[in-house]
Amino acid sequence: MTRWSERAASLTFRTQAFINGAFVDSLTGETFDSINPATDRLLTPVASCGEGDVDRAVRAARMAFESGVWSRAAPQQRGAVLTRLAELIIEHGEELALLDTLDMGKTITDSFGTDVPFASSVIAYYAQAADKLGGEVAPTAPGDLVLVTREPVGVVGAIIPWNYPLDMCAWKLGPALAAGNSVVLKPAEQSPLSALRLAELASEAGLPDGVLNVVPGFGERAGAALGRHMDVDCITFTGSTEVGKLFLTYAGQSNMKAVWLETGGKSPNVVFADTTDLDHAADMAVFDIFGCNQGEICSAASRLLVEASIHDELVERIVARAAEIRPGNPLDPATRLGALVDRQHLERVLGYVRAGEAEADLVLGGEAVSVDGAGAFLEPTLFDHVQPGARIAQEEIFGPVLAVLTFSDEEQAVQIANDTIYGLAGNVWTRDMSKALRVASRLRAGTVSVNTIDRLSPQTPFGGFKQSGIGRDLSLHAMDKFTALKTTWIAY
Ligand code: NAD
Repeated sequence: MTRWSERAASLTFRTQAFINGAFVDSLTGETFDSINPATDRLLTPVASCGEGDVDRAVRAARMAFESGVWSRAAPQQRGAVLTRLAELIIEHGEELALLDTLDMGKTITDSFGTDVPFASSVIAYYAQAADKLGGEVAPTAPGDLVLVTREPVGVVGAIIPWNYPLDMCAWKLGPALAAGNSVVLKPAEQSPLSALRLAELASEAGLPDGVLNVVPGFGERAGAALGRHMDVDCITFTGSTEVGKLFLTYAGQSNMKAVWLETGGKSPNVVFADTTDLDHAADMAVFDIFGCNQGEICSAASRLLVEASIHDELVERIVARAAEIRPGNPLDPATRLGALVDRQHLERVLGYVRAGEAEADLVLGGEAVSVDGAGAFLEPTLFDHVQPGARIAQEEIFGPVLAVLTFSDEEQAVQIANDTIYGLAGNVWTRDMSKALRVASRLRAGTVSVNTIDRLSPQTPFGGFKQSGIGRDLSLHAMDKFTALKTTWIAY
């Protein structure tokens, strides 16, 4: 038993909705089960919110917004509360990390080593931004003084996925709260636990009641109710492209609320023959799809595009490294590949593996395995000689599955790299900086990493071209989504 297993055994869960500063049952009393995908065991029942609960949460959010207790608080004061929240995330880091690991199967190394510090740094970044974004005086004719100010949009509905439960909360809450909005957050039904605890910590940090509400529940009920609510001013969504499109429809069917989407990806990792350090390229390729979050990353480099002359050399190195990674107990700090989020997702990923066997060469893995007799685990899986039009080269698999494609020159590399409906991220490896910049400029992707992989930070915008989304998370640009510009025209 590891130290983490002992700590996990004594963990308590927040299981009710968090509305107007208090934990409450759903109006119908319904619950859903939160299952640990590494053990198949029940963690706890959680309140299953429906339309009535969402309405209650939106009313609380609206009341808090109109009261001005947060929306008209001095920006410095909002910054102070968010700074305290960033500290509390670190102080309660072990607990928050365990909640995500138990809830959705990621390794404790990922949740404690990466996700907790990142969530805290994102909240801290927006805490510091709260009183830094000013307005403008417009260059109008003499006799007029025209002010252009930023105002919070009002009530923000935030809908998040299960792959980074804590970090996705931070990405949405940081800028939305710093700008003075009230928020109703719906975590994914697979991973509601850290969001509920985070809401409690936000209260402890000094966030007034009603400013942050959390409504756990299913997408079709709680998510749709938020998307269709007539009194929600803006939706910020992270999840699949398919569901993202539904939110655009919900907005059209209701009050034309603004909809910001961070959706799927199928990111290319383009390795040219003149790459300086092929070992490093191999390490990074393996890390991004097998050694981090089970490959359940929207921007994961899930397509390796390798120049034909180094194909064998690079694939050999990647296979050797990937073969060393075995699925293991997520609570063991030595484990690099945890459980997939649930059995249903495992079956979905296995469906892609079976499709891949018919259209490419399965070189590594491909089988579900159990750890200590249970769990939704999958071996690192690699397909070689994948054609650009194959399903496993086109569709988002969202698991530890790598598709290897070959190209013969720069033009073909760009063409294949851009040949999906997605455009979230891309990666280029070459010692020739002119070539790197040429290719980077032609990749239709929100982020391009050169001689490194899948990079992001609180300071840099993150989001997609094409069907990978609308708008950007992170950086000061995220504040644009959560503020509306107001023009005040004064004649003198
Ligand atoms: P999902 O789209 O199934 O669910 C996301 C959220 O939407 C969940 O909270 C879910 O309950 C809700 N939802 C589901 N169906 C709904 C409906 N009919 N109406 C309203 N809400 C609904 O996605 P997921 O499986 O939780 O997460 C995986 C997806 O998220 C992948 O496609 C991945 O690429 C994407 N993702 C994108 C980013 C990014 O920044 N671009 C980051 C992380 C994950």
